Formats: sequence, structure tokens, C-alpha cells
Amino acid sequence: MILMNKSIKNKLLISYLAITIITIFLIITALNGFVYIKNTNATIDSATKLSKIMGTNLAASLSFDDKNSAKSILKSLQVDSTIEAAFVYGQNDKIFICHLNNLSQDEAIKKLNLLQSGTVYNDMDSIIVSSKISLDNVTIGKLILIYNTEDIKNTLIQMIQMLLIISVLVLLIMFKIATILQKRLTAPIYTLVNTMENIIENNNYTKRIDEKSDDEFQTVFNGFNKMLNKIQKNKSELETLANLDMLTGLYNRRYFLELVNQFLEMTKRENKISTILMLDIDKFKNINDTHGHNVGDQVLKGFAKVFLENNRKSDVFARFGGEEFIVFLPNLNGDDAFLVAEKIRRSIETYKEIQNINFTVSIGLCEFHNDIEDTINKADIALYKAKENGRNRVECYFAINTDNK
Ligand code: GH3
Ligand code: MG
Ligand code: MG
Repeated sequence: MILMNKSIKNKLLISYLAITIITIFLIITALNGFVYIKNTNATIDSATKLSKIMGTNLAASLSFDDKNSAKSILKSLQVDSTIEAAFVYGQNDKIFICHLNNLSQDEAIKKLNLLQSGTVYNDMDSIIVSSKISLDNVTIGKLILIYNTEDIKNTLIQMIQMLLIISVLVLLIMFKIATILQKRLTAPIYTLVNTMENIIENNNYTKRIDEKSDDEFQTVFNGFNKMLNKIQKNKSELETLANLDMLTGLYNRRYFLELVNQFLEMTKRENKISTILMLDIDKFKNINDTHGHNVGDQVLKGFAKVFLENNRKSDVFARFGGEEFIVFLPNLNGDDAFLVAEKIRRSIETYKEIQNINFTVSIGLCEFHNDIEDTINKADIALYKAKENGRNRVECYFAINTDNK
């Protein structure tokens, strides 16, 4: 739950720290438990030994009912502040004598009751040990020692304090290590994410991941780059296809207008004259009707081929629709463009490669002035004039206007 909606960086950081804290907690608990059990057992051991030694010493006092000597024996317990009380019972199970050290008799009796029938009792506060007092192998009483656990508790508190200081240091070191590890692990992911975002934002599929990784991410990077190669290839193929006329392989009308506009934008300050030619195959319907649509298609392809073989690379030639074509002659004025148009017209007139069919083309010409649509319309008017004037000829819009005047 705590890791939901967090970045990978934070998820890793939180996980590392959580593992560290849990580990520290387990270590502290285990160590304290171990030390507590060890110290309690050691106290029980030494209490048992002590009570046995004292039991031997007390045997004579008890058998002679000599409370004074018993008292002086118990008095020696004063030196050990962890011993809170000592009780000597006689054969009749009555208290023969007791020694109290910082404990009231009532409290001592309460603790005594905890022992019940066993010989050892211990809890967080007290350790109680009972041992027989024997004389010549006959049990004549018992000695009960009550210990407090202050020493054990103090040792535990000191240990916890020390472990907490160590834990804070370990946590700080772990935080540093976790930050470094987290960065190493997430860096390749962010490289991938950033590259992806960059590509999407700029629609630029030429970008690649150059970084190297010494783990499985290298495979991811390689795969990602390969995928981009494929996308880029498909994209450019699609773009090319979208710009071309399927039958003739020439540019289509949309791309023609795009290219011309690009050119005009780039050269708008140069003030050079360019020219547009509109071309229309003469009586093309007759070719279709006489030889069939497929042959008509071959003629259209042949027409495109003739043009491409005879013109400059900078000329922009496109299929404008049906058997109509358009040419943009950059930086060529009407007079020079007329010569080009005538050259095209003559090449078509003499072209007979498609089933020996003769066909001709009429061409309308107009110099470019500011508006592309307007220039195309005017070239179209000139083309119409060429048709009117008998086809297989070139007419200029400028010439038409002069004639009209
Ligand atoms: P004009 O000299 O006046 O231009 O006569 P035309 O017959 O060429 O002109 P029209 O516009 O009457 O006919 C054009 C024909 O071109 C009609 C149409 O079927 C044909 N056409 C248009 N596109 C294609 C094509 O892609 N393939 C073929 N085979 N024919 C086409
Ligand atoms: Mg036509
Ligand atoms: Mg035609």
C-alpha cells in the first residue's frame, strides 16, 4: 500500500530502508533475548551454587536452633545488592530466620509465593531459588534466595542504547548505499523514458539510445533501437508513398504544392521569376477507347518517363490528376520556360515506345507571380487555349493576354 503511486526511485528507496529497519529490529530483539536468557541463567546458576554453599553453612545453626549464628551467616549476603531477601525454613516448614535487603517482609512474602512448589522461579523482576539444607544426608530445612533483576535490566538498557546508536549509523550508511543503488538501477529506465518522451514530443524517430549498460538493460536498449530503426524505415516509406502517385511514380498534387510552397518560402527575398507549366495529353480518351485502359496507363507511365529523362533535377514534376500534369520550373522566366515546354512537347511527339502509339501533349505556361493557385489557374487558361488552337502546342498566359488586348 505504502509503495502505491510512488516513483520507482522512491519504491526502491523505501524497500531498501524497510528491509534495513526490519533487519535491525530483528537483530536487536534477538540479541536482547539472547543476552537476557544468558544473564538470567547465569544468575540462576550462581544463586543455586550460593544457596547450596550457604545451606551447608546453615545446617549446623538450624540443627542446634542457633538463630544468632544463622543470622550472622545470612548477614554476609548484604554485600550483594542483587539479593533482596533470604529465608531459612526449618523441618516444620516454618520460617526459621530471614534476611531482608531493601525489601519489606510483605513484599518478600509475596515474592516467595511465586515460587510455589518448584526450586527456581524467574520473571522480569525477580529470580527465586530454593535449595535443601541437609545434615548427614537428611533434609532438615531449606534456604530460599530472592534476587532482583536490576543488573540484568541495566545491562539490557545499555545494550539497547548502544544498538540504537549503531542502528542510526547503519541506517545512514544504508540510506547512502540505497540512494546509490537506486540511481544505478533506475538510470537505464529513465534513459528509456526520456528518449521515448523526446521522440513523442518532437516526432523525431532518428534519436537512438547511445548509453551502454552492463546488465539486461543493454538488451532492452538494443531492442528499443532496433524497433526505432524499423519505425523510422516504415515511416519514411509511408511518407514517400503518401507523396507519390501510384501509377506514374511522380509526385502527387498535394506534395507538389507542398514542395513549391517550401521553395517559394526559401527564396521569397530573391525576387527571381519561376514558371508553371500545365500539361494535358491530347485526345487521351481515344487512346483508352482504342487500345484499352491498361494501354492508357502504360502511356501515362511512358509520359512520366520521358519527362524525367529530359528535365533538370530541380524541376518539380507532378501528376495533377487523370492525364493532366504540372511542372514547376524554378528560377526560369517565361521565355526560357517556353523552350523547355517545347522540348517536352517534341519529345512526346516523337515518343513511340508504348505499342508504337503516337500521342501528343498540349501545354499551358504562366510565369509565377505571388499566388500559386492563381498561377495554376492562369496556366490552365493557357492550356485551354492550346487545346483550342489545335493541340500539340505550347501557349503562354502572357501571350494570350497580349493577344486579347
Ligand atoms: P483533350 O485533348 O481535350 O484533353 O481530350 P481528352 O480525351 O484527353 O480529354 P478528356 O478529359 O475527355 O478525357 C480524359 C480521359 O483520361 C478520360 C479518362 O478516362 C482518362 N483517364 C483519366 N485518368 C486515367 C488513368 O489513370 N488511366 C487511364 N488509362 N485513363 C485515365
Ligand atoms: Mg484532361
Ligand atoms: Mg486530355
